[in-house]
Amino acid sequence: MGKRTDSTMDKAHCVFCGRSEDDGALLLRGDNGYICSDCVYLAADYLKKMGVPNPDVEDEPEIAPGVDKSKGVQLLRPKEIHDFLDQYVIGQDRAKKLLSVAVYNHYKRITYNSSGSEKDSAKGAKKKTVREVSPVDGIEIEKSNILLVGPTGTGKTLLARTIARLLNVPFAIVDATVLTEAGYVGEDVENILTRLLQDADYDVPMAEKGIVFIDEIDKIARKGDNPSITRDVSGEGVQQAMLKLLEGTVVNVPPKGGRKHPEQPLVPVDTKNILFICGGAFEGIEKIIGQRLNTQVIGFGAQKIRDHIDLDNLLKYIAPQDLRTYGLIPEIIGRLPIIATLTSLDRASMLDILTKPKNAIIKQFEKIFELDGIKLKVDAPVLDLIVDTAIKHKLGARGLRSICEAIMTDAMYEAPTSGKKEFHVTLDYAKNHLSTITGEILS
Ligand code: ADP
Repeated sequence: MGKRTDSTMDKAHCVFCGRSEDDGALLLRGDNGYICSDCVYLAADYLKKMGVPNPDVEDEPEIAPGVDKSKGVQLLRPKEIHDFLDQYVIGQDRAKKLLSVAVYNHYKRITYNSSGSEKDSAKGAKKKTVREVSPVDGIEIEKSNILLVGPTGTGKTLLARTIARLLNVPFAIVDATVLTEAGYVGEDVENILTRLLQDADYDVPMAEKGIVFIDEIDKIARKGDNPSITRDVSGEGVQQAMLKLLEGTVVNVPPKGGRKHPEQPLVPVDTKNILFICGGAFEGIEKIIGQRLNTQVIGFGAQKIRDHIDLDNLLKYIAPQDLRTYGLIPEIIGRLPIIATLTSLDRASMLDILTKPKNAIIKQFEKIFELDGIKLKVDAPVLDLIVDTAIKHKLGARGLRSICEAIMTDAMYEAPTSGKKEFHVTLDYAKNHLSTITGEILS
C-alpha cells in the first residue's frame, strides 16, 4: 500500500493509507474525508476475523457471486428459502412456494439417501435444519426436478439463480436450443455439466450437488400438435440425451467443454444428485390447455365448472398431458414432476422491480454513482417512463435495464469528472436521452 506523502496531503486521499487517485486508489467520500476501496476491504476482513457481525446483514444469508467452498451446502427450510426469494424476486408467489419446497426436499433427500455420510449439513451450516437419517428402511427418495413455465422475462432464471446462490451450490445456465445430438453441429448435452464443473471450481463432489437451469426447454419439443405427422427428430434426440442426465447417470465431462480439446482427460460426474430446473415459455400452450379443459367439462355440471375457470390465466391449469401434446416426450415429463407457472408481470410489478428488490436496478445505478461520491436522484415520473417504454415495446422486465442504461449513459460518462455531488434525473432529461437512442435499443 502506498505511503502518505506531502503531495498527496493536498489532494483527495485515503485517510488510512494516504493514497490518492493518482496512486490508483478508488476513493469513497465521507463527511470529513476519504477512504479507499482497499482499506474498506481490509477493514471488513479484519472485522470478520474478529467476529464482529455486520448490522446490515442481520445474520441472513447473502447472494454471493460464486460458491464458497469452505461453507458447504446451506440447508434452509422452505419458509426461509421463500423469504429470501422475496427479497430478490417480485411476485410469483406460487412458483416461489413450489420451488422452496422442491429445493428443500431435494437437499433433504441427498442427506437422507447418503445415510449420514453427508457432512455438509453439519459442517459450516449455521442453521442445521436437516435431521440425518439413514435409509435403512430401504426407502430411497427419488429426485424431483422442476419445470418452470411462464412468459420470457418473468423471473424463471432469476429464481433458479437466487436459490443456488442462497444454498451456496454451484449453478449453471444452459440454453437447450444450442444442444444437439452427439455428432451434429452445436453443443453436446455433456457440456451442460462442463459449466457446472467450472462454477464449482472443478470440485467434482460439489458440482454433483449443484443446480442446472436449462432454459428454453420448450424449443426442443417436437413441433406441432400431432407428433406423428410433424416429427422433429433432432428435438427428440436431444430430449433422449437429456433424459439420461435428468434421471441420474455418470457422464464423462470434458472439463474445458466443446470438442476443441480432444486431448483433455474426461471427468466422470454423477448427475444423480444434481437438481435440474427447466424453464420455457411454451408459447401457445394455453390453446392446448383450453382444448383439454373444454373437452373435460362436457356433461353434467359442465357449465358450473366452466364458470370457475379463469380464462385469462389458463396457464395455471397446465398438466403433464398438455406438455406431451406440446411435444415433450413422456419420459422427460416424468422426470419433471414439479411444474410451477409464472405469470406475466403487470405494470405495478415492473415498477417494483426497478426499486424494491435488494439489488434493484435503480439501487445498482445509485451505487455506481455513490462510488464516485455522487448522489443520484431519479424522479418518480422517470420510473413510470421506463416502465411504460418497456411495456410499449413489449420488452418486459428484461428491457428495464437497457432502458435505464440508455437514459444514464451520458450521465455516467460526465458525472465522474463533473465535480458535482448530486446528479438529478428529471423527466425531461430522461425523455431527451431516451429519444436519442430509442432507435438503437428499441428497434
Ligand atoms: P426468464 O423468465 O426469461 O428466465 P429472467 O429471470 O432472466 O427471465 O428475467 C430477466 C430480468 O428481468 C432479470 O434479471 C430481472 O432483472 C428482471 N426480472 C424478471 N422477472 C422479475 C421478477 N419477478 N422480480 C424481479 N426481477 C425480475
